Amino acid sequence: MPLVSMRQLLDEAAKGGYGVGAFNVNNMEQIQAIMEAARETKSPVIVQASRGARSYSQDRFLYHLMLAATELYPEIPTVLHLDHGNSVETCKSAIEMGFTSVMMDGSLMPDGKTPSTFEYNVKATREVVEIAHAKGVTVEGEIGCLGGIEDGHGAGLDGLSHLTDPDQAVEFVKFTGLDALAIAIGTSHGAYKFTKKPTGETLKMERLMEIHRRLPHVHLVMHGSSSVPKDLQDIINQYGGKLKPTWGVPVEEIQLGIRNGVRKINVDTDNRLAITGAIRKVFFEKPEEFDPRSYLKPAREAMKKVVALRMTQFGQAGHAGDYAPVSLEEMAHRYHEPVAV
Ligand SMILES: [Zn+2]
Repeated sequence: MPLVSMRQLLDEAAKGGYGVGAFNVNNMEQIQAIMEAARETKSPVIVQASRGARSYSQDRFLYHLMLAATELYPEIPTVLHLDHGNSVETCKSAIEMGFTSVMMDGSLMPDGKTPSTFEYNVKATREVVEIAHAKGVTVEGEIGCLGGIEDGHGAGLDGLSHLTDPDQAVEFVKFTGLDALAIAIGTSHGAYKFTKKPTGETLKMERLMEIHRRLPHVHLVMHGSSSVPKDLQDIINQYGGKLKPTWGVPVEEIQLGIRNGVRKINVDTDNRLAITGAIRKVFFEKPEEFDPRSYLKPAREAMKKVVALRMTQFGQAGHAGDYAPVSLEEMAHRYHEPVAV
């Protein structure tokens, strides 16, 4: 099946009461790992690429790898999503290239660092919604600022200084007409999220619940939601790595979010850790190896395991065959003539 819109995947997830992981990719092995995990667990998937990933993979390589994925895994509904588009232009170029979903992150200025005003965010996001919906493409926006920095993108804040204001979230959705809303509830990008295991207090789950109560039909998105498991950190450190002790977002907090309107969960760091650990292990145990396949195969397998586990934990497993894909043309038509829900 062709690439499908994210809106359809998230609408289905809302009906089924589950969440869908959105996994970042830069290369072929990561795409293969995700697609294999999806087949094994029968999961719909969101594959996402940041600006950094698009430039690393020269854009067209990435797009054609994704086409290969849809050819080889025709039973899996697959979305290609732009992660943290920094400007209307970036989103436009992704839509032109064939992404079926884009994030316009207007919470920051186009430099990807400076927190923006509410007015700027509304204007930029609204513009992307108009362009995207005309083509049936999904739009994710963000209100509030996440902590940390991801691929050079982020204000480098602690994750708590620009939490999403529920009143603003309501206004933002009304003014922009977006499909999915990323909220800041204390999560941050990267491996170093927390210096001890976070609780429901560290993460502002109450705020998430309030936003969901006020916007029950909006698909919420949790960014920076790697769990940074100790066993993956340990493998890296055991084979010569030097990661400092760190904690991510516990899976049970994500599951609580899923029970409260979270439909998309962004995971990148966990996969990076799995890949790096597997490669380090080969280098350490078999220093005579020099065939890239000897370490990329176990790296791909390690990432597949993490992705399959998350798919099961988020509840998307078993749902790949629930629905037939809706074409982007049909999605565009639906946006044009909205049906009352
Ligand atoms: Zn993010």
